[in-house]
Amino acid sequence: MDLVFATNNNHKIYEIKHILDQVENKFRILSLKDISCFDDIPEDGVTLEENAEQKSSYIYNKYNLNCFADDSGLEVEALNGAPGVYSARYAGKDKDFKSNIVKLLHEMNGIENRKARFRTVISLIINGQRYIFEGVINGVITKYERGSNGFGYDPIFQPDGYPITFAEMSLDEKNLISHRSKAIKELYIFLYKYF
Ligand code: IMP
Repeated sequence: MDLVFATNNNHKIYEIKHILDQVENKFRILSLKDISCFDDIPEDGVTLEENAEQKSSYIYNKYNLNCFADDSGLEVEALNGAPGVYSARYAGKDKDFKSNIVKLLHEMNGIENRKARFRTVISLIINGQRYIFEGVINGVITKYERGSNGFGYDPIFQPDGYPITFAEMSLDEKNLISHRSKAIKELYIFLYKYF
């Protein structure tokens, strides 16, 4: 079965192909480029679920192809779930990862409750039926940046049960426990069970 992954992020395509390749592969993952889609797919929902569904619906409605889309964010308890769906542009539209970290550490200044979680939502549409999958990793926001691997908020996110941040882990180590890999695993467990 062909499945379009509605993303332009090659790293994400690689990650899911890598996971599916480890098991008997009944699915061929196609990128947006593979289906010659170069559209700027709208992503203006106010929740991760809305964004993921918006992206998968766009592809399904326009191309009538089975597909899935993801959206992720960092949810900080003391900030009522912020930056959440706005994680990528927390410090402003054109701001980078570094500015987002600086802003978050500033907002957390003096706050004792440092609990946070990364969450990924995947929206799948197969033959017109919609399914939602989720992956979560709980942790804390550190007071200072540590490590240089990864991307985004990795240098200030320390997963529960680990003495190091995501940015101090190897990519393989992070992928074993990350929100994204958990959501992708939920997706493929479902795909293998029903298709
Ligand atoms: P996306 O939906 O996967 O593109 O993620 C949106 C934003 O959430 C990213 O731009 C990052 O700021 C943040 N984010 C998502 N996943 C991670 C992660 O694994 N590490 C650090 N930041 C992340």
